[in-house]
Amino acid sequence: MGWEENVRKVTPYVPGEQPGDKKVIKLNTNECPYPPAPGIRKLAESFDYNRLRLYPDTEAKKLSDALCAYYHIRQEQLFIGIGSDDVLAMAFLTFFHSGKPILFPDITYSFYDVWADLFRIPYRQNKLDEKFCIVKEDYMAENGGIVIPNPNAPTGVLERVDVIEEIVAANPDSVVIIDEAYVDFGGESCLRLIGQYENLLVVQTFSKSRAMAGLRIGFAMGSPKLIHYLKDAKFSFNSYTMNMLSVELGAEAVRDVAYFKDTVKKIVDTRERVKKELLGMGFVFPDSRGNFIFAAHPDVPAKRLFEELKGRGIYVRYWEKPRIDNYLRITIGTDEEMDILISNLRSIMENKPE
Ligand code: PMP
Repeated sequence: MGWEENVRKVTPYVPGEQPGDKKVIKLNTNECPYPPAPGIRKLAESFDYNRLRLYPDTEAKKLSDALCAYYHIRQEQLFIGIGSDDVLAMAFLTFFHSGKPILFPDITYSFYDVWADLFRIPYRQNKLDEKFCIVKEDYMAENGGIVIPNPNAPTGVLERVDVIEEIVAANPDSVVIIDEAYVDFGGESCLRLIGQYENLLVVQTFSKSRAMAGLRIGFAMGSPKLIHYLKDAKFSFNSYTMNMLSVELGAEAVRDVAYFKDTVKKIVDTRERVKKELLGMGFVFPDSRGNFIFAAHPDVPAKRLFEELKGRGIYVRYWEKPRIDNYLRITIGTDEEMDILISNLRSIMENKPE
């Protein structure tokens, strides 16, 4: 059919599976295993449903007030969107318009190339070194923009802020996006650099450390100029992106600092314990600073582990892609879930049926 020639054809991102079966141990999409802050439940229960007749606040003021107070930034340095996927997509659309290739690592969040293709942005993927670290010189070549996740996903590798700063400083003609989806689990944020570098955009999310993947809240922090351009693009697309409940409940999540810190600490403690267990079993992995571990075993193919775990109702993430096709990305769940994972890995590797 002739019309089909004029369709914007895209190969979509493939998210991790969301099984309907509640009995599954779900360690495949880096969600938080603990519930969101307790105050959120109270707020949700007392929410006046009659308010849903009205359009929500286009500025998401309650949520932006809470975020500005927490991160010590001004409203004009903050942009809020429907999860960081929405924020990142909007940033690609807004800032990567030069026609020159944008740069990001070869092993990274698999949505970057999808957005680049969707928006017809050329890109080049710089090879991570053998330790899965970025080679900073690769980001000093001419480019139309840069995206670096820090810590990286799916490797969990954290780059130092001074390395990122060198890249930002070397690229005054490009916007540099640092995707900090996992920074709360032991990374150092680049937020402190936004006052100094007009071209730096720091993106974070409520989906991991704040246990609210289902509500869809993400945000970007940067210079007032960057934020202004982002908002212009967003308000040319859809003014009412943030729904009322996300704004109210998200603000409460930010206010409960003690709960947030406690949740993050529990996950980090579990992660460090699981690292030791996996090492003892012969797994190798880069030192993760995320809420996941990217592990390979020299003797047992990751694909086999992935499939056998799945058969036992334990979901982890596996990609059949160059350089990473012998790795499993294992999200950190509760201690109990991780114990079940480990005992199942042991029994699979010993080839014994459970
Ligand atoms: N960036 C990275 C590196 C991620 O792993 C994810 C989670 N899939 C996101 C961004 C998007 O998360 P969300 O849209 O839930 O904020």
